[in-house]
Amino acid sequence: PVAARYVGRFAPSPTGPLHLGSLMAALASCLEARVRNGIWLLRIEDLDPPRTVPGTAELIAEQLARHGFAWDGAVIRQSVRTDRYEAALARLSGSDLVYPCGCSRKEVAAIAHAGVDGPVYPGSCRSGLAAGRPMRAWRLKVPDEALVFRDAVQGDCTQHLAHDVGDFVVRRADGLFAYQLAVVVDDAEQGVSAVVRGADLLDSTPRQIWLQRCLGYAVPEYAHIPVLVNADGEKLSKQTQAPGLDPRHAAASLWQALALLGQSPPSRLRQASVESCWDWALHHWQLDHVPNRRTVEYVMAG
Ligand code: GLU
Repeated sequence: PVAARYVGRFAPSPTGPLHLGSLMAALASCLEARVRNGIWLLRIEDLDPPRTVPGTAELIAEQLARHGFAWDGAVIRQSVRTDRYEAALARLSGSDLVYPCGCSRKEVAAIAHAGVDGPVYPGSCRSGLAAGRPMRAWRLKVPDEALVFRDAVQGDCTQHLAHDVGDFVVRRADGLFAYQLAVVVDDAEQGVSAVVRGADLLDSTPRQIWLQRCLGYAVPEYAHIPVLVNADGEKLSKQTQAPGLDPRHAAASLWQALALLGQSPPSRLRQASVESCWDWALHHWQLDHVPNRRTVEYVMAG
């Protein structure tokens, strides 16, 4: 029998150009896929039209290409996959795993305690909407038990979905599908066998594993790399004025990303070509050298 193929992916949201932190995630996911003889997909997570900046998907693809990345197959865009998310929700509904919720954000905030990622919904609408109350969102029922998984970088992780997250939204009040549902459906339908991404999503992983179980999907391997933060501990993003990648300094950015990923690239590579950086990286990449921390600090050069 043929061994199942390793399928990795990079799944940026097109809310702004790539910066050094996103380059780390792209590089780690791509290198791991290449050294494991797998394929590497590019998926644009443009699920949330108000947050999508027009032209950014094309810009991201161009930035990746200028930094020496080559993805396999066509780029997938979430915005054209609504019928797939619709079908998954219908399946969850058919198994009685989701319910309509009539609570507003304000009402939830007033009754919930704080969890790992916002307020923990106490399940008020689980047994049905009160008469005359309009439904707003669809929520997935979570189990009252600890969910345990092993992360290739962060080690053993555990989360109690009922205590730490609560029944969570899979379709929002505005009709848009939640990231948690879309990412699980896409990873499964694209045959993704390994998810390598930033540790800001470590706390989302138990929700995704629970959704995979509910939908009968295989659970991929997970590896969460440290998120790049500034001296104040804030994630690099448009909001924190992270500089976009400069294609004229592509090799230097690749070198820096490799260094932040614990790979100890030789300093001569800083001025080398993009091709030499990739050549070195493909021969030396070791996922187990990535620091098992949630964040690494970016020190601005010069
Ligand atoms: N689109 C998400 C982001 O840019 C990443 C999703 C994922 O890798 O699962 O933060």
